[in-house]
Amino acid sequence: MPNQPRTEHPQNCQSYGPGHTMHWVHAKQVGKTPWGWRDGFARTAADVIVVAYAGGGSIAVWHHRRVDFPPGTPVRVHEQFHALAVGSLWINVDIREGGAGAVLEPSMPELWAAEMQAGITSVVEGTGVGLPISE
Ligand SMILES: [Zn+2]
Repeated sequence: MPNQPRTEHPQNCQSYGPGHTMHWVHAKQVGKTPWGWRDGFARTAADVIVVAYAGGGSIAVWHHRRVDFPPGTPVRVHEQFHALAVGSLWINVDIREGGAGAVLEPSMPELWAAEMQAGITSVVEGTGVGLPISE
């Protein structure tokens, strides 16, 4: 996936705010709340990524580095922890428009244990990745 820094943005971004570098605590939160993802299909438009949710509705998110997708790329959005997943790659995004709100925490989150992941981050890329939790 092409991932070029936006020209107006510092090369080595030190911000962990929405849309910037993913902090390891952020990745950990995302990994521990697998019910929070919604599936959709992404396309890039201007400086935002628009995701059409498979269940209806859409959301526009922003990330500080340019991320280009072929139209229709399947992605997931975690609104509670403002993250976008492309395959196993997670990026920190800022929700700009739309969305369906955070998915409510299930009454028995332990039933999601098999879906939970260990979130780790790349200090170089400022992105996260979900890995299986080994027992
Ligand atoms: Zn940034």
